[in-house]
Amino acid sequence: MIVAEDMLAAAICSTLAGIVVIAVAYDNEARDLQGALRRVRSLNDELHTKLGHDTVRQIIEALDEPLLVIERDLTVHRVNEKARTLLGGVFEGEALPMFLRQPGAVEAIRSVVESGRPTEREVQFLTPVEAHYILGARPLEGEDGLILVWMRDITKARLTDRMRVDFIANVSHELRTPLATLIGFIETLQGPAAKDEAARTRFLKIMSDEASRMARLIDDLLSLSRIEMDKHVRPSTPLDVRPLLSQMGQSYAVRLEADNRFINLRIPESLPRVIADRDQVLQVLHNLISNAIKYGRSGTGITLEAAIQPGTFPSDPVHVRISVTDEGEGITPENLPRLTERFYRVDSARSRKMGGTGLGLAIVKHIVERHRGELTIESRLGVGTTVAFTLPVLPAEDNAISA
Ligand code: ADP
Repeated sequence: MIVAEDMLAAAICSTLAGIVVIAVAYDNEARDLQGALRRVRSLNDELHTKLGHDTVRQIIEALDEPLLVIERDLTVHRVNEKARTLLGGVFEGEALPMFLRQPGAVEAIRSVVESGRPTEREVQFLTPVEAHYILGARPLEGEDGLILVWMRDITKARLTDRMRVDFIANVSHELRTPLATLIGFIETLQGPAAKDEAARTRFLKIMSDEASRMARLIDDLLSLSRIEMDKHVRPSTPLDVRPLLSQMGQSYAVRLEADNRFINLRIPESLPRVIADRDQVLQVLHNLISNAIKYGRSGTGITLEAAIQPGTFPSDPVHVRISVTDEGEGITPENLPRLTERFYRVDSARSRKMGGTGLGLAIVKHIVERHRGELTIESRLGVGTTVAFTLPVLPAEDNAISA
């Protein structure tokens, strides 16, 4: 069985010689592997003797994709570390079907043994975490019955596909609900309640709220896609957050008064300027303060705070940390990590009743990520919630503080 190793060794040696890159062959779903092997066979000998089997073994081990060489009876002839980890500790000399518990995949490898023709199949693993792979198998040319099996991780692509499908389903559902309400009330006003003045006033208020929520949902969806589009472009403009925070505080103070509530502003006398997109920072503040109002309690205060946050080490960038704290019911720990997912709500009915779209925190997360800042949500049931985000300070201004 040394011959198969020679074949692999040949490809790898030549890779090192700059003639064939075996990794590229794998990226191309191993389509070119046979050709590569053929081309390098003649160039192999000298390099191979130089490298030796141990080196070849190390190189195979170092490959980033799971790789196996299988014998006709499906005994493992050669396996690298990635494949061993994926298949739960399979070693050379063991029967592959004992480890590759995927009837479709085993069948595919058998078909290669029988037909001598290459094949590919998608396989899915559910434990320890969900993972999707394309498994490819092809005979090693000139080697009696030896099969090369390789696997390419496509988990990310599959999960993204699923997220996209879920997202479209969620958007349709979110729009259909208020639309159904509107249609229902229009029909009622045209029919049974046509002459009921009191009902008309009440229904029109509900219809107006639902229509506004639909409009907000569309606005939020557009915001989210715009933010995602330029997420890789870091903001570059300097921003003085002090006046921005004061303005925000003042404009919300008026609205809160009506509900017997108030806003505490804790902003230091001076703050360095940050690198940030003004409109996006306003949007983050608006979303966080709106949530503090929606999920806070009547008669309680909301605190808007800003502070300088030094880096862990002197060379780390300095940030300004801005936080919004409410004295609402709080959020249970198991819900905290999911709040920034699109349309995730702890209490959907309550969120809808308050005119929420379920996208507010998803927008906040994306904006903060675009600014290379950090978002944290801390909450205690019955006490309240603090949502904080950081923005990097303009480097040259670390010490030039605005007052
Ligand atoms: P929504 O439009 O539903 O408010 P968000 O994305 O802004 O959407 O928030 C997602 C969910 O997180 C809300 O539905 C709510 O359950 C929870 N949440 C957000 N902020 C707070 C808060 N300050 N206190 C309690 N729960 C909150």
